[in-house]
Amino acid sequence: MTAPVDPRAGWQLPAPGTMPRTAQLEPLVTRVLAPNASGMTLDGTNTYLVGAPGSGQAVVVDPGPADDAHLAAVEQALAGRDARVVAVLVTHHHGDHAEAALPWGARFDAPVAAASPGVAGPGGRVLASGEQLALAGTTLGVLATPGHCSDHLAFRLESGAVLVGDHVLGRGTSVVTHPEGSVVDYLDSLRRLHDLGPSALYCGHGPELTEDPTAVLDYYLAHRAYREWQLLAALVPGARTVAELVAEVYAAVPREVWPAAEQSTRATLAKLRAEGRVVPGAGDSVRLATP
Ligand SMILES: [Zn+2]
Repeated sequence: MTAPVDPRAGWQLPAPGTMPRTAQLEPLVTRVLAPNASGMTLDGTNTYLVGAPGSGQAVVVDPGPADDAHLAAVEQALAGRDARVVAVLVTHHHGDHAEAALPWGARFDAPVAAASPGVAGPGGRVLASGEQLALAGTTLGVLATPGHCSDHLAFRLESGAVLVGDHVLGRGTSVVTHPEGSVVDYLDSLRRLHDLGPSALYCGHGPELTEDPTAVLDYYLAHRAYREWQLLAALVPGARTVAELVAEVYAAVPREVWPAAEQSTRATLAKLRAEGRVVPGAGDSVRLATP
């Protein structure tokens, strides 16, 4: 098996660190980039403001970190849209997406909605897959997209674009966390998103993907299959520890992301164990079930 080619390599995406702080992506959507760039969060967390132009209302999706400068930028963007916040939606519980949810919900006097009761808070709303949320003069469809973590949601807009949180990133690939995430769920979520034929993917981190979103989803599926094949190939000579597998399979990626790579590796090994293809060895090692 050869490594799949990322179709975005041929796209005109902004270089890392050059995304504008605020950008209108389409009449329904303004994006505000939080100042929390890192190896894991790429350019920073993308906060989205969604609402029909002229409605005077907006939904905040993924408020991100509780950061004063970010709040000021979001309030400026809301003023630019002449909109007040009617709801705060959160794709998943990770702090770089959810930290500001309850503080901003209180500040804007707007309910917080998420899949986890802990994120939605005492006065919030727990969302279920398939719900259609009529808010800010438009409709957002709720899609359960577990895999990166168990409470992950995506939101489908009337334009056909989908806000995908950390399910798909604007650059590179995402992480399947372990033990919370699930590779089987992740692949299923990718296929269901693929079948929707999204017109664009608005990611939790990195640039918007508008040119050929389905090709990116195909690449994500192929990438996971390739990582699985790499792990199985690395186990052919004999048992390996997880650390050894990460060092071999992720040799080409910066060490800064190896802790995340280790989670994806453990998640993939959990899938292979469930399928009876690998078995635990001594200590933190695994080996092929049938050498
Ligand atoms: Zn996340």
